[in-house]
Amino acid sequence: MAGTVFPEEIRLKVMLRSRHCCEYCKSLDKFSPVFFTIDHIIPPLQGGTHDLRNLAYSCPLCNRLKWQKINAVDPVTNSPVRIFNPRTDVWEERFRWSEDYLQIIGVTAIGRATESALRLNREKLVLYRKEMLEIGQHPPQISPN
Ligand SMILES: [Zn+2]
Repeated sequence: MAGTVFPEEIRLKVMLRSRHCCEYCKSLDKFSPVFFTIDHIIPPLQGGTHDLRNLAYSCPLCNRLKWQKINAVDPVTNSPVRIFNPRTDVWEERFRWSEDYLQIIGVTAIGRATESALRLNREKLVLYRKEMLEIGQHPPQISPN
């Protein structure tokens, strides 16, 4: 959630744990012209804490698109499911890269709903991935938990 100011120590821990990647779209912070933010996986207004287990490193747009959401609709089943949780879900079990590594494909209801809600294949991200591929910076290293 934007607006919370985290101590530098917390910010650093969250950033290093993510290996400098947005934990949703997998963009790298070092190539971003804007600062990445810290996302509350469960927003404080819905009872989420400031504990490290509830925090994820996020690019500003994923953070903004996620906002207060904890659920989203799976476009295949039209049913609401919870959004991907970087602390309890393994990214590779919910998503995969397309063969050209330009698209993120949800492989479960949670993956599909999150891809749709956070627009993980927005045009600028696809262009970004193309550029990163050309300089050998994509796909990023696999996520830790
Ligand atoms: Zn992102």
